[in-house]
Amino acid sequence: MYETKLLPADKESIDQAAELIKSGEVVGMPTETVYGLAANALDPEAVKKIFIAKGRPQDNPLIVHISSLDMLDGLVVYVPEIAKRCAEAFWPGPLTMILPKTDRIPLTTSAGLDTVGIRMPSNKTARALIEASGVPIAAPSANLSGSPSPTKAEHVFNDLKGRIPCILDDGSCAVGVESTVIAFEGNRIRLLRPGFVSAEELSELCDGVIIDKGVTEAVAADAKVASPGMKYKHYAPKADITIIDGSLDAFREYCKDKDSNAILMVFDESDGSDLPQQAIVYGNTGEEQAQKLFDVLRRLDEIGAEKVYARCPDKSGVGLAVYNRLLRAAAFRVIKL
Ligand code: AMP
Ligand code: MG
Repeated sequence: MYETKLLPADKESIDQAAELIKSGEVVGMPTETVYGLAANALDPEAVKKIFIAKGRPQDNPLIVHISSLDMLDGLVVYVPEIAKRCAEAFWPGPLTMILPKTDRIPLTTSAGLDTVGIRMPSNKTARALIEASGVPIAAPSANLSGSPSPTKAEHVFNDLKGRIPCILDDGSCAVGVESTVIAFEGNRIRLLRPGFVSAEELSELCDGVIIDKGVTEAVAADAKVASPGMKYKHYAPKADITIIDGSLDAFREYCKDKDSNAILMVFDESDGSDLPQQAIVYGNTGEEQAQKLFDVLRRLDEIGAEKVYARCPDKSGVGLAVYNRLLRAAAFRVIKL
């Protein structure tokens, strides 16, 4: 058991967190996407502690975070031209690229795969922590496995208090959903997990983006998948969420006769006006929805919501990332109107 400290993201705390990482411990780290659970990616014993702290299945690989392109040397076998173009366009930022790994990355980190997901975050605290630690940092989202990803330090604290020594508090995450994860197939890109960097933006850099089936469809637990994370239940609050895919009028018509104890997840305050249920706003644009989604999912638990009807986000741009997360939170229950 640790007495988990919430530390301000200043130089002194970053240095303290870096010392913990160097000594094989795990700390809570802000990034622009969501908070991460950070450890030395090259130390299998430290990485094991990440899996234990969040109860993550052993076959779900971790993303390795770097603070400079130099750090990539020795971690991957080669970097194809298309990956260089992506790095140039989107690093530092919320894009993870799957590349062939060298033996320096332990199999514990890659969950037995011969590839590794690499990302260079843009959040200043994350970068300073990686630099001060002097090692690449493995960091999955800092939530208990299965619960919504943390976008505030208090979310991390609520999930992991007692399990880690400290959390660097850098306020709310700017993006709010996890990084876009991509793999390369020749000069094409396979989108394994949508994020803030959109399929539309990536398509400008290659001969086509293939959206993996696992992005919008449920994957069987024993299926062979391009990205192990697709198999797992994710982001799920205790409430039963149903996504209502249709116009605002159709949504309002559908909800008006439903149980008044249900909660509505809407874009705008006015979406729920005159309906019998309480409405929670999650934003009008894909960017706003991404930033708020996980906080709203956690809030549903706090208010004891049992049944939730959510307006379906637009599925283009960042909206695809919002839809992908909400779909999992809703256990793939969608009603098309
Ligand atoms: P999280 O750590 O919660 O952000 O999740 C990381 C995501 O990246 C999971 O969905 C993983 O399955 C995926 N991922 C990480 N490394 C690889 C890899 N080498 N190949 C395919 N997917 C990966
Ligand atoms: Mg996660």
